[in-house]
Amino acid sequence: MATRKQIVAGNWKMNGSKELLSQMSETLNSESFQADVIIFPPAMLIEQAVEKGLTVGTQSVSEYKEGAYTGEIQASLASSLGATYTLVGHSERRALYGESDEVVANKFAHAQEQGLTPILCVGETEEERESEQTEEVVARQINAVIEKLGIAALANSVIAYEPVWAIGTGKTASPEQAQAVHKFIRNLLSEQDEQIAKTLRLLYGGSVNEKNSELLFAQEDIDGGLIGGASLKPENFLSICKSAK
Ligand code: PEP
Repeated sequence: MATRKQIVAGNWKMNGSKELLSQMSETLNSESFQADVIIFPPAMLIEQAVEKGLTVGTQSVSEYKEGAYTGEIQASLASSLGATYTLVGHSERRALYGESDEVVANKFAHAQEQGLTPILCVGETEEERESEQTEEVVARQINAVIEKLGIAALANSVIAYEPVWAIGTGKTASPEQAQAVHKFIRNLLSEQDEQIAKTLRLLYGGSVNEKNSELLFAQEDIDGGLIGGASLKPENFLSICKSAK
């Protein structure tokens, strides 16, 4: 049996407020969890979230160290404010902001250089699933990072499998569907490094809620979840955190 500590990560996207942060930290700080719980608030709330004792990540980072990149999030600054994780390649960044596999790999590399642990988000669209390209797409997205940095770079990272058709749609992948892709990812990694394949934490994301989390997180290759909508409701998020072992 694997002994990977599970993660429950809440991606607030461009939602939330100082008030929600206070409520969330009160709710989470009054409990203890078996899993690592991480909050990804809007960047402007990072410092306050850290001050409230939460483990915090950024939703994206620039691939560049500094310079004329208006509106971008600087990894070194996020890190100096106490953020310890960052999402890279979330499907909304790929689809809405044109982030290619290459840009995602650059962001992954730069985040690590600046001391942030990247959570690499991968997943297929509905069309790609229907045309049986899920494995090909997920492999391509992961291999873009391995080709740039080598397999060893994945040792200090997390991968989140998030089928695009399940994000924010209420259409969760079934535990069996999710497990099948997670197993595929673990096998893909084990072809290059057994140890990384065994220890790397693989999260599922896509309409996870307090009703379906327990069954999803109980799958052999699922090590917790990346939660969008349900991470904005402290009581629901708390239940999800408690369901992770
Ligand atoms: C996400 O944004 O990563 C996500 C999984 O969203 P939701 O839980 O709302 O589907």
